[in-house]
Amino acid sequence: MMTVRGLRKRFGDTEVIQDVDLDIHEGEVVVVIGPSGSGKSTLIRCLNALEPATAGEIMLTGSNSSRESMARLRDEVGMVFQDYTLFSHLSILRNMTLAPMKLRGLSRADAEAMAMKLLERVGLEHKAQAMPAELSGGQQQRVAIVRALAMQPRLMLFDEPTSALDPETVNEVLQVMKELAAEGMTMVVVTHEMGFAREVADRAIFFDGGKIVECAAPTQLFSAPREERTRQFLTHVL
Ligand code: ADP
Ligand code: MG
Repeated sequence: MMTVRGLRKRFGDTEVIQDVDLDIHEGEVVVVIGPSGSGKSTLIRCLNALEPATAGEIMLTGSNSSRESMARLRDEVGMVFQDYTLFSHLSILRNMTLAPMKLRGLSRADAEAMAMKLLERVGLEHKAQAMPAELSGGQQQRVAIVRALAMQPRLMLFDEPTSALDPETVNEVLQVMKELAAEGMTMVVVTHEMGFAREVADRAIFFDGGKIVECAAPTQLFSAPREERTRQFLTHVL
């Protein structure tokens, strides 16, 4: 689905992403773990062109050129951030319909029908007229996920989607992500939720110092890492 070659990202004199190669296959769930400041957020922000790369190529399958691919990344790659980023001055329903109407040209009626179906899917149809502040963190994050789905992305990126949540609401968000994975959505997830990674991920990447240090099946990476740096990191999080 996506091929990344020689990706580099520099902020001033600091190279935050150093020569990353990565292939993401259709229907695959890839989990990215690694220490704070290692460049995980920057990496996935590059993957949907929120952040322009300094060098390298990110190609979505079916693109004829790097330039065409960049245009498609914003359009076809959905993203959910750590701090649920709903528009605070708009109702849940308006949050859901804004982009499909503006960017996909859907009529209000069609956008609202789709929004209600998606809200039903996460059990929040009764909150359609509520404002974001009236919802719990977990509920807001579930809306953020289906809001991204309303754009019918081919690939979904998650940047620590449960890190800002109260412990008791973490599972309701992970559950939605598990269902999405089971339906075959291609996903890249930065997370410290090792249980989720073991259960759902096809591959786990240990990212440190702007590089992919190690990439393997989650059971292999967590139980028998090849690299000493991975082993050290895991002793702190497991
Ligand atoms: P992680 O998500 O793994 O914690 P980040 O990708 O957020 O890491 O950050 C990696 C490094 O890049 C950090 O040193 C951070 O300070 C730096 N960085 C991130 N965004 C910017 C930016 N917009 N300008 C300058 N430096 C940045
Ligand atoms: Mg981050």
